[in-house]
Amino acid sequence: MIAPRHQFHITFHDDADGRRLAIHGEFDAGAVASFDAGLEDRTANNPRIVLCLRHVTVIDSSALGALVRATAQARSEEHSLEVHAPLSYQQDLIEITGLDSLIDVTKDCQCSEDEVPS
Ligand SMILES: [Zn+2]
Repeated sequence: MIAPRHQFHITFHDDADGRRLAIHGEFDAGAVASFDAGLEDRTANNPRIVLCLRHVTVIDSSALGALVRATAQARSEEHSLEVHAPLSYQQDLIEITGLDSLIDVTKDCQCSEDEVPS
């Protein structure tokens, strides 16, 4: 089933040194539970995770909170978690809220879209 463009979903991609979760659609309060579940489910034992926001159409403060929690969780397990926020409104939001000091954010997204079958 293909989700409509605005609907929140996550796709999973593996590369040589880690796993990438591409977040799609509206990442807001209603999506946080699925985000948490997807993250927990699919990142176990993976020392390097990238969360790519390239396909996110909407992001709100609940979503930012979820990113902060995910980062804290990864650090407590000595894993690395990097957030791709290539769109300027995402960058602005993260900087304005001061979260760039809490999340490892990079603007430079070179993700390809080779999806890992689940
Ligand atoms: Zn990316």
